[in-house]
Amino acid sequence: MSVRYKITSRDSLFSFLKSLMGDYQVYGPTENEGPVETSNEYKFDRIYSLDQIALRHPPTMIPPKKYFFPEKEEMLESDGSDFREPELGDRFVIFGVHACDINSFLILDKMFSKGPYSDYYYQRRRENSIVIGIDCEPTEYCFCKSMGEERVESGFDLFLTEITGEDTYIVKIGSKIGEKLSDFEGFETVGRDFAVEVIEESLKWKEEISVETRNLSESTLQSFENEEIWEELGERCLGCGNCTMVCPCCNCFDVKDITNIRNHNVSRLRTWTACTLFEFAEVSGGNFRESIKSRYRNWFFDKFRIFPREIEEFGCVGCGRCIKACPVDIDPRLIIQKVVGEKVE
Ligand code: SF4
Ligand code: SF4
Repeated sequence: MSVRYKITSRDSLFSFLKSLMGDYQVYGPTENEGPVETSNEYKFDRIYSLDQIALRHPPTMIPPKKYFFPEKEEMLESDGSDFREPELGDRFVIFGVHACDINSFLILDKMFSKGPYSDYYYQRRRENSIVIGIDCEPTEYCFCKSMGEERVESGFDLFLTEITGEDTYIVKIGSKIGEKLSDFEGFETVGRDFAVEVIEESLKWKEEISVETRNLSESTLQSFENEEIWEELGERCLGCGNCTMVCPCCNCFDVKDITNIRNHNVSRLRTWTACTLFEFAEVSGGNFRESIKSRYRNWFFDKFRIFPREIEEFGCVGCGRCIKACPVDIDPRLIIQKVVGEKVE
């Protein structure tokens, strides 16, 4: 499908969203007011009214992958004689997804469909969704450009880019569903050259800290014995798991059967887990990554050595969430610079 573009005003966009809310459950970025000003954060939540939506927003604390791979989900339930699978529900819309997060969906698509078993629970949610992206409000933590993840070519149905100061949006059409949705009144056809110019203009921000990724996978492998890097991180890192829990690309999970001895019901749950946590590597007889140093190094190796080996992509889209969430200011950009031995100005 050759890419087509449309243009729409903010008013028409809101009418469009209102109509979507009539047809689907819509989730989108909202401002989450905390008890004090500094605790305010943005989060993806169910949208019931248009004034909840934060069109311009920095990356949310928890990424929208939660709609395909929830923090906690029931896989099946049994009453001892039969199994019941949770119902999927109706098709839903995730509105306002940034380019880096859409690209993380593509990475998860590969991870959850690799090998002989495709992840049924992830796939069915992914297929049941409509993704509408929007351009980002980058922060000092963002390094998606260094990672080559600031643009989207697939993985979405529509993608909006604001024409600065004009209350107007370029709408990039990314699928047949998007094509159909963009027939909405007030969405007008626009020339490709103009649309591309607007999109390129929106990407003219500068990263506060950039990294070089050309030889990152190989350099990561070679850094394994570099005690200076990993010892220092082992001493600083608390092993709290925050960096993993907020990451749009992390995909490890735990599965537990919860039994009720009174009625013989069993519920099989899967929950996110983090390789930076002590209990992640606990097995019968011991723990195979007891030190924080080995756990943090494993997290880093996974993203920059194992992901590229397995799916030819880094397990990082440069969203910066892990930097913001780290209580002791560990910054993977600075580690990448040390690992590749190059500082990018
Ligand atoms: S590793 Fe950090 S910057 Fe990279 S995608 Fe995960 S949370 Fe974002
Ligand atoms: S968030 Fe920081 S302290 Fe916590 S596990 Fe990650 S790197 Fe370590």
